[in-house]
Amino acid sequence: MSLGMSAAWRSMQPKKKRCKRCGLFYTKALGKCNNCSHLNESQLAQLKKQHQKSLSANSALGKTMLLCAVIIGLLLLASFL
Ligand SMILES: [Zn+2]
Repeated sequence: MSLGMSAAWRSMQPKKKRCKRCGLFYTKALGKCNNCSHLNESQLAQLKKQHQKSLSANSALGKTMLLCAVIIGLLLLASFL
């Protein structure tokens, strides 16, 4: 996907607002967060913990992708030598 296309796609998405309570994004038109408004404090803590876990999983995946890119780059470089 090109950068221009992704920007156009993003502008078509509904306006999102970051929730102060849980830190997740919700649709501004809703007026309240649909992630945590129905949760009590302990459920909220659980949600936050889960979200944190998925964030760190994403960054681990990002590191793996970066490593692959570096290895491919080195292989390309080696093939030129
Ligand atoms: Zn929330």
